[in-house]
Amino acid sequence: MLDPGHNGGNASHTSIVTRPVDAGNGTTKPCNEVGTESSAGYAEHSFTWDVVVRLRPLLASHGIDVRLTRADDTGVGPCVDVRGRFGNALRADAVVSVHADGAPVGGSGFHVIEAARPLGPAAADHRLALAVRAALLAGSGLRYADYIAGGDGLDVRDDLAGLNLSTRPSVLVEAGNMRNRGDIALQDSAAGRQQIAVALSRGILAFLGL
Ligand code: ZN
Repeated sequence: MLDPGHNGGNASHTSIVTRPVDAGNGTTKPCNEVGTESSAGYAEHSFTWDVVVRLRPLLASHGIDVRLTRADDTGVGPCVDVRGRFGNALRADAVVSVHADGAPVGGSGFHVIEAARPLGPAAADHRLALAVRAALLAGSGLRYADYIAGGDGLDVRDDLAGLNLSTRPSVLVEAGNMRNRGDIALQDSAAGRQQIAVALSRGILAFLGL
């Protein structure tokens, strides 16, 4: 299951996307967020959609049944609770949510986030995180994020509904910082997004043993 973060219609539907929904761990969060953008106005939802559209056939060519949490880049939502639970009934073998960060301009690189208190087996989350991290470092053109504690390309959070509500092996990838000049040069080029998609596919395939 691939989850391209945010959606193109979110910004013009604030009453829908600000509605509080279950975020797991006894908390609520807005249904969805607009996401970040580059200083030149390249939107995170466009980036995540394009990366996932490039990633999908790379996995499907290995016989993987790939499902996406949204059908296009012009809709609204779905809410983070729907995204988080999307793979549960499908018994998804792996759940990868693709985002890009809007961190301070001086920070660069990618990081892979695991749930602090996952509903599913934490060991599988961690194996997926390590596989995706290794593939991104080897092939994405991005380094480990230098603005995240630890500096090892990994993070653990308890506030992300998409991770909190999944019972399947799940990670959320922040594939670079859209505010950083070096990262956005990669993210805002088709070749760069293809490179990121290929790296993600290698990480997912390695996790699945394919
Ligand atoms: Zn995001």
